[in-house]
Amino acid sequence: MTKLSDLGPPKPGHLHGRDPVREEDIFYTCKICGQKVDMRDLRQVMWHEQPDHEPLEPSAANGA
Ligand SMILES: [Zn+2]
Repeated sequence: MTKLSDLGPPKPGHLHGRDPVREEDIFYTCKICGQKVDMRDLRQVMWHEQPDHEPLEPSAANGA
């Protein structure tokens, strides 16, 4: 039987691109303003942490 180690060292980053995150894993809906928040963007997360705020202007880069 071939052992995994026989195939050589692990090769990370060669499967289906290198960032297989799903959109539903990185966005959540803000309970206060109802806007989708990109969890990767700390500015958005911090903004929506505030107890009273308005939805952010969507940036053009997001295609929203
Ligand atoms: Zn919000």
